[in-house]
Amino acid sequence: MSKRFDIIVIGGGHAGIEAANAGALMGCSVALITMDKHALARMSCNPAIGGTAKGHLVREIDALGGLMAGIADRTGIQFRMLNRSKGPAVWSPRCQSDRKLYSEEACQVVSKIKKVEIIEDSAEEILAEGGKVSGVILKNTGFISGASVILSAGTFLNGKMHTGLSSFVGGRYGEKPALGITESLVKLGFESSRLKTGTPPRLKKESINWDILEEQPGDENPKPFSYRTDIRHFPYLPQLSCFITHTNEAVHKILERGFSESPLFTGTIKGVGPRYCPSIEDKIVRFSDKPKHQLFLEPEGLDSDQIYLNGFSTSLPAEIQYEAMRKIRGLENVEMVRPGYAVEYDYFPPHQVDLTLETKKVQGLYFAGQVNGTSGYEEAAAQGIVAGINAAAKITGKPELVIKRNEAYTGVLIDDLVTKSTDEPYRMFTSRAEYRLILRQDNADRRLLKYGYDYGLIDKSQYNELNKRELLITKAVTFCNETKISAKVINEHLSSRSLPEIDSTEAISKLCKRPELKLDEILQFVNTTEENKMFATTLLENEQVLEQVEIQLKYEGYLKRQEEMISKLEKYESTRIPSTLNYLDIKALSTEGREKLNKIKPRSIGQALRLSGVTHSDIAVLLVYLKN
Ligand SMILES: Cc1cc2nc3c(=O)[nH]c(=O)nc-3n(C[C@H](O)[C@H](O)[C@H](O)COP(=O)(O)OP(=O)(O)OC[C@H]3O[C@@H](n4cnc5c(N)ncnc54)[C@H](O)[C@@H]3O)c2cc1C
Repeated sequence: MSKRFDIIVIGGGHAGIEAANAGALMGCSVALITMDKHALARMSCNPAIGGTAKGHLVREIDALGGLMAGIADRTGIQFRMLNRSKGPAVWSPRCQSDRKLYSEEACQVVSKIKKVEIIEDSAEEILAEGGKVSGVILKNTGFISGASVILSAGTFLNGKMHTGLSSFVGGRYGEKPALGITESLVKLGFESSRLKTGTPPRLKKESINWDILEEQPGDENPKPFSYRTDIRHFPYLPQLSCFITHTNEAVHKILERGFSESPLFTGTIKGVGPRYCPSIEDKIVRFSDKPKHQLFLEPEGLDSDQIYLNGFSTSLPAEIQYEAMRKIRGLENVEMVRPGYAVEYDYFPPHQVDLTLETKKVQGLYFAGQVNGTSGYEEAAAQGIVAGINAAAKITGKPELVIKRNEAYTGVLIDDLVTKSTDEPYRMFTSRAEYRLILRQDNADRRLLKYGYDYGLIDKSQYNELNKRELLITKAVTFCNETKISAKVINEHLSSRSLPEIDSTEAISKLCKRPELKLDEILQFVNTTEENKMFATTLLENEQVLEQVEIQLKYEGYLKRQEEMISKLEKYESTRIPSTLNYLDIKALSTEGREKLNKIKPRSIGQALRLSGVTHSDIAVLLVYLKN
């Protein structure tokens, strides 16, 4: 008799653990199949979480009730808020992680989730009957049945690694590839293709001349990713610095010598690589006018003697990597622990999934993470939690979760994948979001915690706390609009800061619009009534509220414009298109428009508008057709 689960998750990577956690918290029994149960959420590449736009995703995963932010907080060895000199829309939290501790912490957390059974095995075939998934065949365990299956197999599907002209099968350094899954899905009618990614060499810590390198410490007052991290104990671990160095022309010359043996240039690698995270050999060719490229030396952990050379991802022959690195400042005597390599793997072009991440071909089958063509831990985890919630929602009879583009980067990510598909590794950038002033890292809970709560991933006390904070924010904005500060009180301060003085009185909100003035600075001058003074003190003591109010006041005009744009487009987003609509019958559509609409089957006119090849006249035709 085979074992039966509500949800089977294939792969215990960043997507897989989020999917398993979400499914279990929603009451489903979950089998988490993974090749190595001690390697859950292993960091295949850089020992870091977050960064530009990725940090936003981590905060969103946390607001939905996911695991990544908490694990990163407990194992981070350097925390920084990136892009501080720019506007708050692009501020992005990032941490350097202790690679070993990160995975160990993930194993601890997942092993404690009551309804998750971790099965150490290799999934070899996904089965479906009558268009519905029925279960999975595991190498040792045999068949297990499931109402839903979530595939989050990362870079392992028919994985092949390359260094110079040598190549060997594997999903990641020292780990076996996953064989059989792609073939079973192709048999079920899915289309698969190849992508590639790469990783830099790891260096021996003691062999680096640290004294001559530029140090990059973390923030003086680091902030955690998770809303649930107890700030009193944060950061949990001692904090380390990263260091900066650069390539130079001598390095480039040596690397060029290896091009004839580069699997990238000899055509050995067929998969398309990440355009935005190119290998060093790619950078030299594409930016041939640049005499140097910046590199970061990042610690892999507190007790680790390995250093990650960020920016030097390569699959050139190991001897060439070694020789070139020794021409880099600070690395003159470097010893290489492991050369860089590239990995090629199968993925499923993501037009084959719906906005819930359920596949269009097989009911109950979901794809999440690298298998959808993305690259990055955070992109994978964001998809994992959405797939987990939707798989469980279907089983428990809850409504599906489709996060909109104007609600979260997670919504942008999934909409981009489904609507535009991708033929190169997709990573998140702030520029991909059209409403980025609204989708800030600081307000992820205000945007998404309600979903986490509705689906049972967030507890009531956290939800109540947010609602209380919302009331205080509304009250504070009104207070700042209505409370005035007189010239008599503030002008001395303004002139001491060489700022223009005010004539008579000015509302706090107006003063706050000045880029040089901070809200906490202005609130010090509230002195009209005892009640006002007390309220100003309350705000000064509540950093989270203060930050939200300040951004709201400073960027009021821009925020309003984005909100107007959202409501203008809302009518398109809310005009649903039935999934049964047969576009081939609508002769008035353009040929390309008809093909694209038929392939993607958009859920709304808004989504149809974002399809390349669908013209405005196609949309007009569609609107008339739907009306009739
Ligand atoms: C060499 C390399 C370099 C990379 N470089 C970068 C980079 O520079 N920047 C970046 O953002 N990202 C990079 N990545 C990608 C990053 O590691 C992934 O985006 C991320 O880990 C994807 O998460 P995931 O959950 O989809 O899969 P993974 O983290 O890969 O996890 C997949 C899990 O599934 C398990 N598994 C797979 N198949 C099966 C099966 N059939 N049965 C049982 N278990 C299975 C594996 O054991 C593994 O635990 C790199 C990856 C590699 C391998």
